Amino acid sequence: MSQAVKETSHFPTEMKRQAYKMVINGEAVEAGSKDTITVYNPATGEAIASVPKADKADVDRAVEAARQAFDHGKWKKSPVGKRSRVLNKIAAIMRKRFNELVELEILNSGKTLMAAQGQVMQAIEDFEFYAGAIVGHRGAVNNVPGPFFNYTQKEPIGVAGQIIPWNYPIMMAAWKIAPAIATGCSVVLKPASLTPITAIILTEICHEAGVPAGVVNVITGPGAKIGTYLVEHEGIDKIAFTGETTTGKDIMAKASQTLKRVTLELGGKSPNLVFPDADLDGAVDGSLFGIFYNTGQSCEARSRLFVHESIYDQFMEKFIGKTKKLTLGDPMSQSTHVGSIISQAQVDAIHDYVESAKAEGATVAAGGDQVKVEGYENGYWYAPTIITGVTNDMKVAQEEIFGPVVVVMSFKDEKEAVKLANDTKYGLAAAIWAKDQGLIKRVSDKIQAGIIMVNTPFSAFPGTPFGGYKQSGFGRELSIESLDLYTETKSVLSYIGGKPLNPFNL
Ligand code: NDP
Repeated sequence: MSQAVKETSHFPTEMKRQAYKMVINGEAVEAGSKDTITVYNPATGEAIASVPKADKADVDRAVEAARQAFDHGKWKKSPVGKRSRVLNKIAAIMRKRFNELVELEILNSGKTLMAAQGQVMQAIEDFEFYAGAIVGHRGAVNNVPGPFFNYTQKEPIGVAGQIIPWNYPIMMAAWKIAPAIATGCSVVLKPASLTPITAIILTEICHEAGVPAGVVNVITGPGAKIGTYLVEHEGIDKIAFTGETTTGKDIMAKASQTLKRVTLELGGKSPNLVFPDADLDGAVDGSLFGIFYNTGQSCEARSRLFVHESIYDQFMEKFIGKTKKLTLGDPMSQSTHVGSIISQAQVDAIHDYVESAKAEGATVAAGGDQVKVEGYENGYWYAPTIITGVTNDMKVAQEEIFGPVVVVMSFKDEKEAVKLANDTKYGLAAAIWAKDQGLIKRVSDKIQAGIIMVNTPFSAFPGTPFGGYKQSGFGRELSIESLDLYTETKSVLSYIGGKPLNPFNL
């Protein structure tokens, strides 16, 4: 295929083939069974490290450590200023180790330098955001009829079980850990088995910054076994999960047995709407980034592109032309646009979708196949792919592909654009490209999604709520709202009248 290819580069050898350990109660530990999981670099297919393969007994150890830290430790009672300082220190250490974290993230995920730099920086800023936000997170004095006095206070929920996916390893770990420990909760974090490395390093950094032992624990192992066990565990008070919608449903059902608090950040099939008055070049460039950033392995990837019929041909000529110019190759090169896919299984799943689209009568306008990239022949790569001639009822338009594949449709007016955008079980994000402010407001109001991007491909910064409507989950991360989701609200109502109350009048 005609995709441009970049030269190879080599990672520092000391980062390869390390045997990483879990972190339980502040100590680096192996699994009780001593079993391990091999970790790969998906860009090259080579084994780079191993992590412990935890079983239920290891989960028990981690939950016990977190429980002890929460029930008997000082963290949750420490002055908010202290917790804030520690969060800032975590961020400061991450800043010092920025290049190392970026390289490890690339090595373990196959993402590009540009993507990894942005995501590590966002993880850092997340800790800084919550270091500030927690200071202002407080209860209230409420209006009640006299002679009563009522105040509410925020109290940490307890021990949070946190389960994260492979597409944004360090960013997801930061999204989960930062608000939880800011509120005083303790944490047992389970990263994805494919990408566990930076979550382990981040946990070590938390301890170096002064988080007491037991407050942040990380366990590694198969989600279907230890993730499930964590969800069902009596010692866990809340589950925060990011991953597939089907896994989220399973987790919600299992967590209901102990009435755990649950927040779910799930999949998406986000629409990208280009209206006729949009800045055409800006919309082309933004739409390109909206789908192909992070190799399309983003929950908020704008994977359904809707273009007004009056500009469709003009838009598509540019969009297809630029897609074909995207560079695959050395993930460490600043000029590489698209990294590798996380695994061969994911490549196969992506390709099945492309084949299903063809079988349903759609056309592949760019890409459409696995590619061999020079210097990375054993890695997992898929060409940036555009599928046209699609209708919104096709499988490829309804199911999350989680790869560099965009399906394109045209629309005739605002009403049809909104209808098509909302015709999905998901509701995570949507992008609008237009100049007419009235139209932008109307469409934003009508779209059922938690995140609307107007004339920008960027979906979120620390401080902006991130989460979905419908089957994209519930709860919000990255923002002040998350602090409420790691706390209970206690209402204290006091009678302050002089004469004792005697409601039964006896
Ligand atoms: P999965 O749901 O397969 O896995 C996510 C995590 O859950 C992994 O740590 C996994 O462990 C674990 N897990 C798997 N099965 C279970 C189970 N039965 N019980 C408990 N834990 C389990 O998702 P992916 O890793 O494939 O991630 C991609 C998905 O994440 C996409 O759907 C994407 O849209 C979504 N996502 C959503 C975001 C959002 O904010 N809305 C952000 C980023 C991604 P293991 O790795 O060991 O299998």
